[in-house]
Amino acid sequence: MVATQQNMTTTNPVIPAHAGTQNPEPPVLIDVENLSVEFPVSSGTLFSRNRATLHAVDNVSLSIRKGESLGLVGESGSGKTTLGRAILHLQKATRGRVLFEGQPINTMRGRELRNLRRRMQIIFQDPYSSLDPRMSAGAIIGEGITIHNLASTRADYNRRVAELLEMVGLNPEMARRFPHEFSGGQRQRIGIARALAVEPDFIICDEPVSALDVSIQAQILSLLANLQSELGLTYLFVAHDLSVVRHISDRVAVMYLGRIVEIATSADLYSIPQHPYTYALISGIPVPDPRIEARRQRVILGGEPANPANPPTGCHFHPRCPFATDQCTTEKPQLRQTKTNRQVSCHRSEELTLEGV
Ligand code: SF4
Repeated sequence: MVATQQNMTTTNPVIPAHAGTQNPEPPVLIDVENLSVEFPVSSGTLFSRNRATLHAVDNVSLSIRKGESLGLVGESGSGKTTLGRAILHLQKATRGRVLFEGQPINTMRGRELRNLRRRMQIIFQDPYSSLDPRMSAGAIIGEGITIHNLASTRADYNRRVAELLEMVGLNPEMARRFPHEFSGGQRQRIGIARALAVEPDFIICDEPVSALDVSIQAQILSLLANLQSELGLTYLFVAHDLSVVRHISDRVAVMYLGRIVEIATSADLYSIPQHPYTYALISGIPVPDPRIEARRQRVILGGEPANPANPPTGCHFHPRCPFATDQCTTEKPQLRQTKTNRQVSCHRSEELTLEGV
């Protein structure tokens, strides 16, 4: 499973942050600087309440370039959805800041903030609860067009709604139908059209396929990938399953208990994970070739992630990590840039050689 003391630089070429292009890197669109989101929580009995702080997002820094797709992966409760909401300014950060095209969004007001809200959109996880059942598909898609004055005439509005329905693979005549008349996949297409209606630059896709049948998931992922290349969109693609983000992400960030533990290009992360948690997640991805599958060793993580209101000392992952040492129980590892052009937060990442898929 693990060989130590190997030189990983020989097997892991340096690939630029925007994978797959030879051009100079595009400018950064989203910059997250030392962002923390904390919530006060109380525990105990009615007569002896203890006050504690839940560290939902713990000092996270990352950037996303224009046209890039960054996957954000972690178990339920890892803080990925809270991080996404804080980036969109829907959740107040306790510390740190988010910059959009170099401008801190927490200082924006009035027209500037309204324009930012148009340029940053979200596609929700649940296509059943995220659409108002009293509104037709056309009205749901067109709401943002009206709010942001993006159509000058009624004919212009109708033309744009029809165009958006076609862009997401739906018949424009479906504009008059209501959400209950659509399947789950079709509803998610309406959610995507709603996000696109206001001509955004950046979209957070918050687990957009996790509520859908497996057969439909691939269609929606393919639609999102095509729209990204046609429209030059930038994505933060949130998922709890590494296999979902694999083909749609240029880079992937792995989150555990509020902290980023590894960021690498998609190719590097899946072929040679360097953080034991990433390794455990990847070892759970099935491989289609039965001969390879038979040889693979799975890492079954013991226990549940710790309570973010009372996280373990040192490395948060140490109670579940098969490679933990005494140092891991007391010293918090920092997210460091490695020789292989990735960032990893593990005391032992240089000496471990972990198998990918
Ligand atoms: Fe495991 Fe230690 Fe690395 Fe944490 S720092 S992931 S406990 S080896």
